[in-house]
Amino acid sequence: MVYLDNSATTPICNKALETLVKYSSENYYNPSAIYLQGVSVNSDIESAKQTITNALGVKYNNNLIFTSGATEANNLAILGAYRKSFKKMLFSVGEHPSVYNVALELKKRGVDVDFVKLQQNGEIDYIDLENKLNKEVSFISIMLVNNETGAINDIHRVFELKNKYCPDAILHSDGVQAFGKIKINLDFLGVDLFTVSAHKIFGPKGIGALFVKNKNLLNPIIFGGGQEYGIRSGTENVGAIMAFKSAVDDFGNIKDNYNHVSKCVDAFLGELKTINCLINSHHSPYVLSLSFCGINGETLVHMMEKRDILISRGSACSSKKSGNRILENMGLTNEQTLGSIRISFSKNTTIEDAIFAGKTLYECYNELKDRLK
Ligand code: PMP
Repeated sequence: MVYLDNSATTPICNKALETLVKYSSENYYNPSAIYLQGVSVNSDIESAKQTITNALGVKYNNNLIFTSGATEANNLAILGAYRKSFKKMLFSVGEHPSVYNVALELKKRGVDVDFVKLQQNGEIDYIDLENKLNKEVSFISIMLVNNETGAINDIHRVFELKNKYCPDAILHSDGVQAFGKIKINLDFLGVDLFTVSAHKIFGPKGIGALFVKNKNLLNPIIFGGGQEYGIRSGTENVGAIMAFKSAVDDFGNIKDNYNHVSKCVDAFLGELKTINCLINSHHSPYVLSLSFCGINGETLVHMMEKRDILISRGSACSSKKSGNRILENMGLTNEQTLGSIRISFSKNTTIEDAIFAGKTLYECYNELKDRLK
């Protein structure tokens, strides 16, 4: 089987799995316990925070809050930062549902929420952003890498614009599809809040984290025993946290991986030869969005599945909904949106797999075209 849906999730790597087992059986102690074993597990969690923060290119201590995944981290970033005094909140229209739907909910509750448009290449429209920025803006959330298209937003540019028009506004970025794949330096990006998830980088599902530059920015949205600096109560998911650390330790070299994945994309696209398809965007080689006119993307996905290659229609989180908010906002026609598929690679994808998948897609496309004649 060739798995090319790595933006949806990845298999847990051996190191992370071993760690998960170790901290669920041998080292199962509650990190809040005051005896030695508990204290030791607590300090292991601190070291996991350090590893992940370092991988974000910065040297902060105690600035990471573990959550049940990026969905919760995004909810915490927005709802935890929200204050009644907020005048206006800005989001990009291309955000993952765990940001976008929180924005819609706030809007429903009467908050002044606005959305920044996308350009045709999938990046946010910086001119539209600039037009929408003023001193009323209290919060901005714009993702680093889009999960549907791989488009990379220039968050540093967003930060500079924010500083020009509303320096006190809080800047959040969902970094799920960027973490471990492109070089990140949170200080350079200028974000106050940054979201990551383990299961996109060969860690376990159900664990994520929110980086917070200044913990005073956040109020809890989950109340209880006061874990995670009182911001996120609940006994820490120690096994998953430590496995997340192992997955980060196991990244390998980001630049080498990036170059390898870029070669996979080239090899894959090389096999599509004369097919007339629209490459929606592939700034990050890890996510490739293609659109075939006059073809149903879902049919293509199932034809590929029959040939043992797993790809997707788009984000797993929106696969059950009709239409595609991101592609539509990039200006694709209904037909182009209907004919879209997403192929997402990983550092473990081989060139042979990429070539095989490309060849197979070429055959499936032609078969489908013939059937439609
Ligand atoms: N943000 C982005 C950009 C994502 O791709 C995902 C996963 N599809 C999430 C947030 C949600 O992550 P999790 O599954 O950890 O809740």
